[in-house]
Amino acid sequence: MRVLITGAAGFLGSHLAERLLKEGHEVLGVDNLATGQRRNLERLGRYSGFTFLQADVRYPLEVEGPLDWVFHLASPASPPRYLRLPLETLLVNAEGTRHLLDLSLAKGANFFLASTSEVYGDPLVHPQPETYWGNVNPIGPRSIYDESKRYAEALSVAYHRVHGLSIRIARIFNTYGPFMDPEDGRVVSSFIVQALKGEPLTVYGDGSQTRSFCYVDDLVEGFFRLMEVGYPYPVNLGNPEEYRVLDLAHLVRELTGSSSPIVFRPLPEDDPKQRRPDISLAKRLLGWEPKVPVREGLERTVLYFREVVDHIV
Ligand code: NAD
Ligand code: UDP
Repeated sequence: MRVLITGAAGFLGSHLAERLLKEGHEVLGVDNLATGQRRNLERLGRYSGFTFLQADVRYPLEVEGPLDWVFHLASPASPPRYLRLPLETLLVNAEGTRHLLDLSLAKGANFFLASTSEVYGDPLVHPQPETYWGNVNPIGPRSIYDESKRYAEALSVAYHRVHGLSIRIARIFNTYGPFMDPEDGRVVSSFIVQALKGEPLTVYGDGSQTRSFCYVDDLVEGFFRLMEVGYPYPVNLGNPEEYRVLDLAHLVRELTGSSSPIVFRPLPEDDPKQRRPDISLAKRLLGWEPKVPVREGLERTVLYFREVVDHIV
């Protein structure tokens, strides 16, 4: 297959690209490097099937040749990063999604949207099934991400209904693993890097808010299963193993053998209090569930960060 991936220099895009390349497919990676890492592109550049196009998908994209799949993963994804790039984030999910839907139509390709558990906002239903409509502050600081992802879902489903386009929508819950950007501020990478450097682990609020953490290989397997079924509506992909952020900090300290102290910092505005996927649909539809327990996934991730952390001290 010939596959286009936007956001290929990012954490998830590079994992997806690598798995497709390993299976012998041709991958055209598109990225403007807003939050991506060159080291991910260097890794992908070792495969002969990989081509990179530096482009900003907020603007229409010209691509030569046929395409079987268009994966739209481009978007800042870490809260501190998207809060620094508010208009860029809105537009990559709104205009960017439109351009990639149009490209998919023009090429007769299937379209795959990387959506997010953030469409549930600060959820009042727990765990969250796909049928829950969410609790999103439409003008809060996180709305630039949440609302533009909700729009991207609405637009994708409309292209399916109006044009018959073949689409998939993955609602991705917090995912972690090797090749995360050590400096993009997400909780798993931040805690591991802080622990390895002997710096304080910064817990926001009192750390009682929860998240559920999925190892990246499990997520990518979920993407592959979703490609196989012709289901055009959102499917939650995540690991229901739920942690309080404070407990995650303790676990990271234990796994790294670090004696870093834990310090408390103000809770960001609208930070969701709880999050856990209901993955009944993914189990039923895709025969999928995560295989890697959080403790084991964190151990693998710590191994990776031990190698890179020397370069960022
Ligand atoms: P990331 O920041 O590592 O990767 C995103 C990539 O998109 C970066 O390489 C960035 O440079 C690129 N990009 C941003 N704006 C662009 C633009 N206008 N044109 C071209 N490229 C652009 O983030 P990630 O964790 O790999 O997330 C990938 C996708 O998955 C995002 O759409 C994100 O919303 C979604 N997602 C991720 C998670 C997670 O836990 N990692 C959870 C939910 C949803
Ligand atoms: N968090 C934290 N310390 C950090 C980074 C994040 O306590 O250094 C908290 C954050 O407030 C949130 C949770 O960890 O409650 C997950 O944050 P992340 O940015 O990884 O993703 P989110 O799920 O909020 O998009």
